[in-house]
Amino acid sequence: MDWVHCNKCLKALISNKDIRLYITTCGCIFCDKCLGEFKDKQFKCCICGKMAQATKLGSTMPPEIADFFKEPMEVLSSLITVAVSKASRIVEFQKKHRTRLTKAHSMQMEKMRSFYEEYKKLQGLIAELSKEKEILQRKCAAYENEIKNYQNGGAAIFRHPNTASPMAGPIPQHKFEFLLSQSSQGVKLQFISF
Ligand SMILES: [Zn+2]
Ligand SMILES: [Zn+2]
Repeated sequence: MDWVHCNKCLKALISNKDIRLYITTCGCIFCDKCLGEFKDKQFKCCICGKMAQATKLGSTMPPEIADFFKEPMEVLSSLITVAVSKASRIVEFQKKHRTRLTKAHSMQMEKMRSFYEEYKKLQGLIAELSKEKEILQRKCAAYENEIKNYQNGGAAIFRHPNTASPMAGPIPQHKFEFLLSQSSQGVKLQFISF
């Protein structure tokens, strides 16, 4: 520290290793001889004219004063190390939350995909049920027609429709037909096929 010297008598620390120096609250530096009786009490600084109090330079001085006697590059390096470490912790923290969010989004997408698959299956089922409804409506219309024929004094043929239900599976293949006729002798039921 070639620049540290008593501001009054100019004795420098570098050439006087045994010199005892003091720094004042006004920022001036004095040796113990120049400071004299003002080591422990307030005084008016003879360099800058401000009221001041002195602190002995050395290992016991407070950190905020000690900082002024450090090498600027060392301070910078130490600040960079602290800043890098803090930035790393911030990056890790944000990365953890981004990963968590991405994972949650993936799970939501997977759930939506599965809902969509289910929706497509249900649509297929609805289409099959609509077809079955049409067949059953045709069957009802045919029965109603046959009943109308019978009520008008004619014969009625009833056929088991050979349809398959998507809900209950295929209907057993024993289709049948029978003829219901009426005459003066009464009503006659005749199986055509069985
Ligand atoms: Zn001095
Ligand atoms: Zn001063």
